[in-house]
Amino acid sequence: SKRVAILTSGGDAPGMNACIRATIIACQKAGYTLLGYKHGYNGLLQQEYISLSLDSTHNLIQQGGTILHSARCKEFMHEEGLLKAAHNLKKARIDSLIVIGGDGSFKGAAKLSEHWDGQIIGIPGTIDNDIAGTDATIGYFTAIDTAMSSIDKVRDTADAFERIFLVEVMGRNAGFLALNAALSSAADYVIVPEFFSSAESEIEKLVSQINAQRTLKGPVSFIVVVAENVWPNGLAGLTDALQQRNLQDVRPVTLGHVQRGGSPVAQDRLLATTLGEAAIRLVGKDISNVMVGEVNQRPVTVPLSETWKNTKPLNEARVGAMRTLMNERYNQADN
Ligand code: ATP
Repeated sequence: SKRVAILTSGGDAPGMNACIRATIIACQKAGYTLLGYKHGYNGLLQQEYISLSLDSTHNLIQQGGTILHSARCKEFMHEEGLLKAAHNLKKARIDSLIVIGGDGSFKGAAKLSEHWDGQIIGIPGTIDNDIAGTDATIGYFTAIDTAMSSIDKVRDTADAFERIFLVEVMGRNAGFLALNAALSSAADYVIVPEFFSSAESEIEKLVSQINAQRTLKGPVSFIVVVAENVWPNGLAGLTDALQQRNLQDVRPVTLGHVQRGGSPVAQDRLLATTLGEAAIRLVGKDISNVMVGEVNQRPVTVPLSETWKNTKPLNEARVGAMRTLMNERYNQADN
């Protein structure tokens, strides 16, 4: 019978537990033993693992975070660490290793495969959705929901004082979370790395939108959603730049780590459950170094190396909606 191990690595994301739960049950059905390494790749290096059985699955699907804990692991970036991990996996007689994480975690997994001949399967788990080869990643839908609800609340106070609010959302170097949070909360403007040219030209566009809106509607609130890492000198820099343009009452809000928490929404639970089950179905098959993802609601396997080589584009229809409903709204009204 196969010995399977699973770990969660990199940024945690809601739905990781739902995925672990699915693998526990699928392994039980198939008669496999399942171990869970704790603290990402650190667990591999320290031989820190627990046995995962059906007793662990109770109420697990709805829990945020990850019961295995996550972590970054510097030692794993070096050959010595990789060799140690490979040695430990052999010692624990692991046949298949499942890694739930983002692109960094997948790069680490691919490196490990140069030193270990067991089977490696990745499952995309990150709120950033910045992994090619899958339409969505576990945690992404919940993070959109959390950001959307927070922006709804920001709008209440923004309306009360007719203020301009700059709301920074996560996403690493991708605009998925920012764009979708902005669209679903009817924000007035969104700044994402995919369409960012320069601070100067962005400020011009933004100021002209704010002024056009004020001419049309009088002084009302204006909500700008800003993807993290996009503005050259951060949210404070953008706030200053707007104040220098005599736009008073500009307030920055950084949503921060609340976006990583919470009970997963249904879409994340469904994705996590499907991918967890699909991963266990690959155990023992002649396929390794792949990610199990979902495209058009069907499970797919993609070589790990393809998940970070290409930059996944934003959904075109959503971008179209953004242009019509947000960033270019008032320009068009002028025409
Ligand atoms: P997220 O994007 O959600 O934060 P991630 O998986 O991309 O998730 P990272 O911090 O980039 O998060 O990577 C997680 C861990 O993977 C690192 O701490 C390191 O242990 C390992 N890792 C990343 N890149 C490499 C690499 N090139 N070689 C070996 N290990 C790596």
